Amino acid sequence: MSANQHLKSDKVAGSGSWPVEEQGFDTLLVHGGVKPDPVTGAIITPIYQSTTYVQESIDLYCAKGYSYTRSANPTVTVLEQKLAAIENGADATVYATGMAATTTAISTFMNAGDHAIITDCSYGGTNRACRVFFTRLGMEFTFVDMRDLKNVEDAIKPNTKLVLSESPANPTLTLTDLSALSALTKAKGLVHVCDNTFATAHIMRPIDHGADVTLISTTKFVDGHNMTVGGALVAATKEISDKLRFTQNILGNNMSPQIAFYQLQTVKTMSLRIEKQSSTALKIATFLESHPAVEKVMYPGLASFPQKALADKLHRNNVHGSMLWFEVRGGTANGRQLMDTVSRPWSLCENLGASESIITCPAVMTHANMLKEDRLKVGITDGFVRVSCGIEDADDLLRALKIALDALPL
Ligand SMILES: *Cc1c(COP(=O)(O)O)cnc(C)c1O
Repeated sequence: MSANQHLKSDKVAGSGSWPVEEQGFDTLLVHGGVKPDPVTGAIITPIYQSTTYVQESIDLYCAKGYSYTRSANPTVTVLEQKLAAIENGADATVYATGMAATTTAISTFMNAGDHAIITDCSYGGTNRACRVFFTRLGMEFTFVDMRDLKNVEDAIKPNTKLVLSESPANPTLTLTDLSALSALTKAKGLVHVCDNTFATAHIMRPIDHGADVTLISTTKFVDGHNMTVGGALVAATKEISDKLRFTQNILGNNMSPQIAFYQLQTVKTMSLRIEKQSSTALKIATFLESHPAVEKVMYPGLASFPQKALADKLHRNNVHGSMLWFEVRGGTANGRQLMDTVSRPWSLCENLGASESIITCPAVMTHANMLKEDRLKVGITDGFVRVSCGIEDADDLLRALKIALDALPL
């Protein structure tokens, strides 16, 4: 019996007597998977900081679902159930990092000799894992522009097993028509994994669009406070999730109970944060569009966004997220001056989706490990400025940006 089955049979809030299907999204964010501690009534799930679990007898080995914390841990289980509930999946597994989730998915669905189709614009670490690590293990990858699904169709080979999409893509925010892509992968018998880190379940749920697995770097909006790192794979079916859990137990790249405890608290405010961040992002994108020092701005909420119609189709609640990017006139030198000089509340660093507003230079930071020609092909120039809007006052963020932009030599 798995840990999840144990909790489900025990009338967990979020299943059984409290059907998930009847709960609104914000209710699931707070209560999904959680029930009062059976011993003390503690309203939030405690940190079960225990390596092993005492068994009643050999015959009843693992009857309560727990034997050893690499295989399952009660605090971690609750986070898995919550993420499965909010992403509309059957089950989830959580990992030490987003990259642990990515590499577990690839290791589960691919064998030596197999081929996968990966979006040509993704988190830099995803690109590197495929290009320099999994190829070494005898797997093959084709990187394609998924804005046009003809590119995916043309790349399918007899040994293709997996399609990995990311929408909006990090950092260019290009979107993929996930329903159409899922229809194609289903017709061809391929597994479709979609990285939903940027959109989050508040804005879009890939499983609603037919994806088999939703990948999340929970480091970003699930944590939302620049506090922890983590990852998740939410699967559309229990069978797929069981396969991922089997790989995870072998690789041993689990999330620790301490981190699961933190993320169980931070995720509750995810919708509130994203609503505020998205409203700020729209204000900032609109301001940038009107500033003479700015060459180009991309935000899925702007009328000028090239895939605006698809953004409106994919994204729920008329919300388009906290991420935007822009380029300033004068190229790399001015782009770098802006990133170096913009003052508080902005911070120049990696990470995104947090309460603190962040400016990132992907060419040097998050996407430095892509091949330069691949990076430039998808539009990540050396002066590309990636912005993650936090939850500070939008006026303070705008004022600091204006001072830095006004100072650029044009
Ligand atoms: C950050 C990120 C990852 C990797 O997650 P880590 O937690 O840093 O390992 C994967 N995908 C996307 C879209 C990301 O932004």
